[in-house]
Amino acid sequence: MATVLGCIADDFTGATDLAGLLARSGVRVSLRMGVPQGPVTDAAPFEVIALKIRTSPVDEATSRAGEALDWLRAAGAERFFWKYCSTFDSTAEGNIGPVAEALMARLGTAQTIYCPAFPENGRAIFMGNLFVGRQPLAESPMKDHPLTPMRDSNLMRLLEPQVQGTVGLIDRLTVARGAKAIRAELARLADEGIVHVVMDAVANSDLEEIAGACRDMALMTGGSAVAMPLPALYLADGTLAQDAPALEVPNLAPEAIVLSGSCSAMTNKQVAAYLATGAEGFRLDPLDLAENGPRAALDWLATQDLSKAPLIYATADPASVRAAQAKLGVARAGEIVEEALSACVIAARDRGARRIVVAGGETSGAVTQALGVDRLEIGPEIAPGVPWCFCQSAGHPIALTLKSGNFGSENFFSEALQKLEAL
Ligand code: ADP
Repeated sequence: MATVLGCIADDFTGATDLAGLLARSGVRVSLRMGVPQGPVTDAAPFEVIALKIRTSPVDEATSRAGEALDWLRAAGAERFFWKYCSTFDSTAEGNIGPVAEALMARLGTAQTIYCPAFPENGRAIFMGNLFVGRQPLAESPMKDHPLTPMRDSNLMRLLEPQVQGTVGLIDRLTVARGAKAIRAELARLADEGIVHVVMDAVANSDLEEIAGACRDMALMTGGSAVAMPLPALYLADGTLAQDAPALEVPNLAPEAIVLSGSCSAMTNKQVAAYLATGAEGFRLDPLDLAENGPRAALDWLATQDLSKAPLIYATADPASVRAAQAKLGVARAGEIVEEALSACVIAARDRGARRIVVAGGETSGAVTQALGVDRLEIGPEIAPGVPWCFCQSAGHPIALTLKSGNFGSENFFSEALQKLEAL
């Protein structure tokens, strides 16, 4: 079946966020890590390609995005979505604007929208200004982000230096009048030569109207939330057949492993709560790993009953993390832990683990790479923004969930495993 919507995301967790929201519709969503090599096979109605171009040089970002577009077109897509962060994370040069413009040129389209709003997560846009909770973006913690510090809250002002074309706004007063009014305003702005249109949105109902107005644009751009209404809109008018492929849950052996490399406050609670259920656990100590490697963890793993889903964790409180970082350096401490968890996931898979829970954004990247996973089918959500995903590793069907930092409730690990049992 041809792809109905082709999505390009500027980073991996952004791609999973978008894929998870699209999959709420029940329609099959497939996420590819990077642009697939070779011809298109087995395209899903919704395809999301995860790139890593948020802070790359502009030329590199636009050419990667162009390759992704070509692949999605070959999969049959005629509508496209450029996904970036709901805090509009970009440097002075881009890459939000330049990628949008490069995609528009390739598609031969004269206008697109920008809507990073995500009301459920406190991201709202009013009169072109982006708010994080009650704070303007430039007064939120994003002002001190190490890679993409956001020092202006006005999306038009942020976008203008990034693009050649003119920038305009459809404000909340128009958005509140509904999809028809938005469409009319887009047409009026197009007549004036306005190419890049920032869209105000403060509530999910605004996003519904915007998606309703823009659903047939060749290119929409935004955070994940404005794409969420699209599957239902495409199903309602037959763009997507009612019998469009749904996810097929593979048969999975019961053996499981939980791997945690996140040290966030919530993950610390989740590890404690899981151990309190009586689950077996092995704590990785970065200093010990630096000296002796992961042998002790692997020996321990070899004695474990995987049907009881043991836990291997480097998760520690801030003081222990700082102590390890002071001795090893921040980057090296992280690498050592990621290498150890990668070795553990391979060993667990080779001993039969087919249900794998991973905590930590960077950790997730390391684990999926170790498993050689290049494609995920998005399954049911365990917690908002955290779905089960299905993939293949070394020819085995595997269920994988990748939870970053503070996501999920205290009992996330148990809930994740129970959710899979109920499928
Ligand atoms: P999060 O999603 O919570 O940010 P990440 O996996 O992205 O989690 O980042 C956590 C980083 O901290 C990883 O690089 C991980 O290897 C590293 N790490 C994990 N445990 C420790 C520890 N005990 N000491 C130092 N660094 C650690």
